[in-house]
Amino acid sequence: MIDFDTKHVLHPYAPSVPSTDMQLVKSAAGVYLELESGEKIIDGMSSWWSVIHGYNVPELNAAAHEQLSKMSHVMFGGLTHEPAIKLAQTLLSITDKNLEHIFFSDSGSVSVEVALKMAYQYWNSQGNKDKTKILAFSQGYHGDTFGAMSVCDPITGMHSAFEGVLHKNIFAEAPMCMFGSVWDEKYIKDFKEKLQENHKVIAAVILEPIVQGAGGMRMYSPVFLKRVRELCTEFEVLLILDEIATGFGRTGELFAYEHAQVSPDILCVGKALTGGYMSLAATLVSKKVMLGVETGGNVLMHGPTFMANPLACAVANASLELLLNSDWKKKVDSIESQLKTELIKCEDLEIVKEVRILGAIGVLELKEDVDLVWMTPEFIKRGVWLRPFNRLVYIMPPFVINEKELGTLTSAIYDVMKAYIIYKQQ
Ligand SMILES: *Cc1c(COP(=O)(O)O)cnc(C)c1O
Repeated sequence: MIDFDTKHVLHPYAPSVPSTDMQLVKSAAGVYLELESGEKIIDGMSSWWSVIHGYNVPELNAAAHEQLSKMSHVMFGGLTHEPAIKLAQTLLSITDKNLEHIFFSDSGSVSVEVALKMAYQYWNSQGNKDKTKILAFSQGYHGDTFGAMSVCDPITGMHSAFEGVLHKNIFAEAPMCMFGSVWDEKYIKDFKEKLQENHKVIAAVILEPIVQGAGGMRMYSPVFLKRVRELCTEFEVLLILDEIATGFGRTGELFAYEHAQVSPDILCVGKALTGGYMSLAATLVSKKVMLGVETGGNVLMHGPTFMANPLACAVANASLELLLNSDWKKKVDSIESQLKTELIKCEDLEIVKEVRILGAIGVLELKEDVDLVWMTPEFIKRGVWLRPFNRLVYIMPPFVINEKELGTLTSAIYDVMKAYIIYKQQ
């Protein structure tokens, strides 16, 4: 099996002949992945932010089975169904009241494409053909499709190979006032200047609220987000918030923008929406923006084949029910405080530049890029699954993780970092 995989199956951001040993996962339950060897390891990544309730969850399994026996899919053009309507009701009721419409798509990147299209069409339909640019941020990450790539950090955004073919957007300095730090207006200066100079050609600003994820794992001050909202209003550009990574409780608020109590014009959600069971995303939008898009009889020009897939919507409904009826906030807070006592110890290690913690997210920024080939088996040996990238070793465990399991994760990180220092000295 592994042999065929190695020869033919491509993996994310990886060479066709993998540089690290591929692990074959047989099954997963709770916070554990079971490998082919029978070994069980704790998933510290929630399969990239998504598996908030852990694996093999009875309630989610039941929702999938029940929907499967009714219909797993039906086209969304001219037809609709209860799972989508119910999910729309829930999502619109738990997000900002300004958001009144919702567009379902198959992945986070596509929900970003839809958000960008909404912004372009909003201005275009009203006869403003100059607003063709997006103001985005350094160290931002918004997905891998072409429109999404064009708003990712041109350097850390993993897409430098496409520079010549991407739409040229405008980039502001990454938010430099970190979460919990004292605010100063100097932190918004660069953004303000870019907006002031270019607002006539800017359709929208796109930003990951409070936590910049894959582009750098940085947590920044809610005041920054507040100021961005104020300036977008002042200079008449739309604000797109990308909550694909941060949504559904991860940062300690249900949505990260709640830390700043701002109201987006367009909001993208994905990743944890189905509890990590299948791919589903959504773009939520205000009435004002939809009215603008449809000025002059236009309609939003997008429609994926698997739009609002009933199976995915049914599981998302079950996942949201599970989340909203649980004490998720208390759980995320307790993960945060455990990380603050255990993971913070890594700050004493000479290879660690900084430890950052917010909600159920813990990040070690090292002084140099990580040697994945060495590090991955070291983590597995200690019973955990982690997937560092560049200089970042980070965890965002399923919310259902218990104290002992989280302790295993944090001590594995500490021990591996200590072993790494010795390995590097050899
Ligand atoms: C993962 C991610 C995306 C892309 O989502 P996919 O489902 O991988 O296409 C976009 N924005 C943010 C902030 C993300 O974390």
